Amino acid sequence: MRTRQNHRRNLLISLLLLTSVVIFGQEKQLPNVVILATGGTIAGAGASATGSAYTSGQVKIEAMIDAVPNIRNLANLRGEQIANVGSQDMSVKVWLDLANRINALLAGNDVDGIVITHGTDTQEETAFFLNLVVKSDKPVVLTGSMRPSTALSAEGPLNLYNAVAVAASSKSKGYGVLVVMNDEIHSAHGVKKMITTPVQTFQSPEEGMLGSVIFGDVEFFHRTYGLNTVNSEFSVDGVKELPRVDIVYACADASPDLIDLMVKAGAKGIVIAGVGDGNMNAGTLEAAKRATKMGIAVVRASRVPTGTVLLKGEINDEEYGTVSSMEHNPQKARVILMLALLKNRSREELQKLFIEY
Ligand code: ASP
Repeated sequence: MRTRQNHRRNLLISLLLLTSVVIFGQEKQLPNVVILATGGTIAGAGASATGSAYTSGQVKIEAMIDAVPNIRNLANLRGEQIANVGSQDMSVKVWLDLANRINALLAGNDVDGIVITHGTDTQEETAFFLNLVVKSDKPVVLTGSMRPSTALSAEGPLNLYNAVAVAASSKSKGYGVLVVMNDEIHSAHGVKKMITTPVQTFQSPEEGMLGSVIFGDVEFFHRTYGLNTVNSEFSVDGVKELPRVDIVYACADASPDLIDLMVKAGAKGIVIAGVGDGNMNAGTLEAAKRATKMGIAVVRASRVPTGTVLLKGEINDEEYGTVSSMEHNPQKARVILMLALLKNRSREELQKLFIEY
């Protein structure tokens, strides 16, 4: 009798143990996240912890991961060094390398999310480019830092920790490409670099931040705007370079011949960082008309940091052959235009793209 009771008790204990092993095993199943490093201040180093001088792109990805406590509790991580530059030197070549690598990685079942470490100077452009050409709804998250790794209160390690948390979270799927810094999650569509050096540089002044990430705790509040990733018609499959698109900055008494010079240098498209509502002086407007008559695409954006360039404002786009960038600042308008010009498109077709994306 006693032996039978013991046997039953042992069976029960074994069952409990087995169940806890299974549950424990499930808890241990971490998402797989790949970190693609490109440089920037987050990988920067300087001689003094309190001095402002430093050089971007000095630290390699393995050392950056090792500098973040508990980051491997969030995901199975592996890093790849795609480049190691200050993002003022970001290039179309690196954009294409990044896009192709991300599309290859996310096509498999063994990668759940991507983090890209990147300088902040051109991060919004890279994020927006990838937003248009990545063919997956899995999370793709860019991050960086304003203080180099050697600085007092360097914020790079926490930004990287939070970026991995966002990339590892199933909540982050379907929002397009994201930018995570300073505890905030921004969409590639809405985010802008707003301040030269403080840590709160990335903001989405029109759309607001998408969500927050506090020590790895991810929350989303809003939706994203504009077509992106799996809904985007743009593709860089097999593309080796993008058409040249230049930006000209408008100001009082601007020199109109800058547009003529860009055309002569081989620009296929020109974005005007116009004054106010995408305006420019009479001479520049005539130069823009000369360019569009030659088949060069000319897009009117604004040097004003926020707001939409109206379709029907002071300039009649049909008369000058120009296109409104809508809510896109000059640098993001340039990204759309470079991709759009991979195909022949009419003025109306180009305008439609700026409205939809
Ligand atoms: N110049 C740096 C870069 O963009 C600035 C930064 O990362 O914050 O790489």
